[in-house]
Amino acid sequence: MENKKEVLLDLKNVKTYFPVKKGIMKKTVGHVKAVDDISIEIYKGETLGLVGESGCGKTTLGKSILQLIPATGGEMNYNFDGNYKNLRTLPKKEMDLARKRMQIVFQDPHSSLNPSFTIFQSLSDPLKKFGVEKKEDRRKIIGDLLESVNMRAEYMDRYPHEFSGGQRQRIGIARALSVNPEIIVCDEAVSALDVSIQAQVLNLLKKLKEERDLTYIFITHDLSVVEYISDRIAVMYLGRIVELADADELYKNKLHPYTKALLSAIFVAEPDRKTKRIILEGDVPSPMNPPSGCSFHPRCQYCMEVCKKERPELKKYVIEGSDHYVACHLVEQEMKKDA
Ligand code: SF4
Repeated sequence: MENKKEVLLDLKNVKTYFPVKKGIMKKTVGHVKAVDDISIEIYKGETLGLVGESGCGKTTLGKSILQLIPATGGEMNYNFDGNYKNLRTLPKKEMDLARKRMQIVFQDPHSSLNPSFTIFQSLSDPLKKFGVEKKEDRRKIIGDLLESVNMRAEYMDRYPHEFSGGQRQRIGIARALSVNPEIIVCDEAVSALDVSIQAQVLNLLKKLKEERDLTYIFITHDLSVVEYISDRIAVMYLGRIVELADADELYKNKLHPYTKALLSAIFVAEPDRKTKRIILEGDVPSPMNPPSGCSFHPRCQYCMEVCKKERPELKKYVIEGSDHYVACHLVEQEMKKDA
């Protein structure tokens, strides 16, 4: 990462709530707060890892950024060649064009490729949509794309069932690249693959990022994968970011009790990291009715009275020269003592 970072996407207080309806009249009786007041700057050329248990809101945040799920509040200011515009208020025509800049790679490439279409047909659609009219031009582009993901150009005339899971995921990546995006949301993109194939696809994503100056938002529950691929990592719990730091810094100086518990699972599998497994008690509470104060408090072994009443803000600390953001009363108290 360069020192001078350009912000590609600036999220301010983003919320994505889903109404919960009941009865014959379908009356709204509450809201599931899947993404609850998230502010973060995403830098051009970085890989931002988003981690957390299932249901923490990471996929909803990714899809909200791509406008596949409409956010219900906040701003998403996208850097259109130096001119920031809020994606949420962009006129439809402009948003359709903006989609070219933002693509997604899904977990299950099989379900995202139409089984009755050849790879050429599947990859042709986005190209046609963005103005590549001539079939021969599309064949050339698709052939080059397949080669860029280490597949043969002639594979474009085959059907999805003729490929392995790893190959299908590479085709999914080629499709995302077909419109020359700036940012790709990788939603559990390697989670369905065998470990050896995961490594190949992760290395391919790293190579493509360098070659094409891409920015990734990498959503995963796999903490080894996120450490390997990410420049920065945001840890989410119940729709909020509870800790955010450079990947090396986070793994070295994890501060939030939830992050410590989460990471202790992989540290046990790697004995040289010498950390005891922290077992979290209880389930993730319902995002429809999150606990008061710090939403992690019912599961936190360090819970204090203040934690039950006041929601901790995500605060910045500079540790060994690196910006480190944490939302925790205990960390705040410890930092004050050390100051
Ligand atoms: Fe635990 Fe309190 Fe920190 Fe929440 S704010 S993580 S309950 S110590």
